[in-house]
Amino acid sequence: MPSAIIPGIHDANLADGALRIEAEPWAAMVAHARRAYPNECCGAMLGTTGDDAKLVREALPLENAFEGAQAARYALRPEDLLAAGRAARERGMELIGIYHSHPDCDAYFSQTDLKNSWPWRSFVVLSIRGGEFHHANSWLPNAERTEAAKEELSY
Ligand SMILES: [Zn+2]
Repeated sequence: MPSAIIPGIHDANLADGALRIEAEPWAAMVAHARRAYPNECCGAMLGTTGDDAKLVREALPLENAFEGAQAARYALRPEDLLAAGRAARERGMELIGIYHSHPDCDAYFSQTDLKNSWPWRSFVVLSIRGGEFHHANSWLPNAERTEAAKEELSY
């Protein structure tokens, strides 16, 4: 997705640290991923940034708009992303990142995921095996989107 549509993209506060997800949004993300199985789900994570951690306080499920087999791909509509950014600002929060699920796959960050990401946001991948949550990782793409570092994730 074009990075230009996401304001504050070079906000250094978002560039490092750990990601913590509150119980309620975490439960919503897992429920969404299980509901979408065997397809991929996707959504926005809204929250706040502190000195050394980002806190996700709300999960906003979005529609997987990929027009093909959704078992291995997801796509976000730019207008849905803009709406998520607006919703965050209205609540005094920020768009911390995006989550999506990997049905019957590990929570790695694929080349496609990297290509469709934007720098310095958290991309949480939930591995769903047989319809049940298995594990999750959070990834932080670099400025050139040539690689994504795994960041500390707690929920
Ligand atoms: Zn993926």
